[in-house]
Amino acid sequence: MNGGCMCGAVRYATDGAPFVVGHCHCESCRRHCGAGVGTLVGFKADQVIFSGKQRHIYASSPDVSRAFCNECGTPLTWEGDGGDIGPIIEIHIGTFDNPHVLVPTSHAFYNERLPWVDVPEQLPRFEGFPDDSPILQHGPTGTSSTDA
Ligand SMILES: [Zn+2]
Ligand SMILES: [Zn+2]
Repeated sequence: MNGGCMCGAVRYATDGAPFVVGHCHCESCRRHCGAGVGTLVGFKADQVIFSGKQRHIYASSPDVSRAFCNECGTPLTWEGDGGDIGPIIEIHIGTFDNPHVLVPTSHAFYNERLPWVDVPEQLPRFEGFPDDSPILQHGPTGTSSTDA
């Protein structure tokens, strides 16, 4: 799949399937995106090839970087250590040329969500990262389902 920033200076191509497509409610993703919730598509770093101008990399916390376009400011990635799968690059879904074909399957850091974020779907809500934290609930807060 292909994508890039708003001005087109930074482009990327991904190879193969992502290991995660998910919403993230953490404060850092909100600030980086300037949005109420971040939605990220995660790949092993070697599945992503950038072209055009160099993305600007900002060290947002120890061992974690976030990149953006130096020309137009579009937020592009979360980059860091994926544990067992090695270095990973998670790309903000809105920067793909065809983001509609990518369908989120989880909510990360659900407790950090803004109070008005209560989307009416049944995806599992995790306390932290989907691969190493408990599921808080399925579905909107207004329902009481906690079946995992
Ligand atoms: Zn740009
Ligand atoms: Zn996040």
